[in-house]
Amino acid sequence: KSFEDFKLNRQLLNAISEAGYAEPTEIQQAAIPLTTSGHDLLGIAQTGTGKTAAFVLPLLMKIKYPQGNDPRAVILAPTRELVMQIDANISELAKYTEIRHVPLYGGQGPKRQKEAVEAGVDIIVATPGRFLDIYKTGAFNTKQIKTMILDEADKMMDMGFMPQIRNILEIIPTKRQNLLFSATFPPRVEELSHEFLEFPEKVEI
Ligand code: AMP
Repeated sequence: KSFEDFKLNRQLLNAISEAGYAEPTEIQQAAIPLTTSGHDLLGIAQTGTGKTAAFVLPLLMKIKYPQGNDPRAVILAPTRELVMQIDANISELAKYTEIRHVPLYGGQGPKRQKEAVEAGVDIIVATPGRFLDIYKTGAFNTKQIKTMILDEADKMMDMGFMPQIRNILEIIPTKRQNLLFSATFPPRVEELSHEFLEFPEKVEI
């Protein structure tokens, strides 16, 4: 299989080829078609497997163009480093689109991040705590969120983010597509997957 076999548009195919991705990795082969067809997804995959592009590419296909000012997708990750990494991967793959994405993380004041969101955003990439902090300032509305992605869910559980994740699930629309990625699948992640995913397809590599 090649990237041409997925239903990706020319802007994405050009970015993929410029990023030097010759062919889809195993997780991308499995996850991209399932996600594109609208399923919830449970992905068990380590870092280094290309898991980020496996969820970013279908998301960029779904979002397509900028629309309104409020986010239509949220990607949650446990650390500032991972948030920055995911956001950089989106920059690379979305470079020929107009899609707006903003990373939110702690370790610096919220003012600039709040302003960045208020300028209009399609995808928010955030640590759970900072997502809630910026939400509470009134910087954005959650009504348009139709996709939620949790990355490194095992690490999020280890770091005690379950209460924040529950809190976020309470403030976003219930009708949405959900993706959960985790390197391991301990009981706590299994529990989270039952709470979070609806009839998920499972991809394990
Ligand atoms: P990840 O597992 O998402 O952290 O990705 C690990 C690295 O692989 C990142 O630097 C990606 O840019 C790169 N990558 C992702 N997909 C591919 C691909 N299909 N071919 C080559 N490199 C890739």
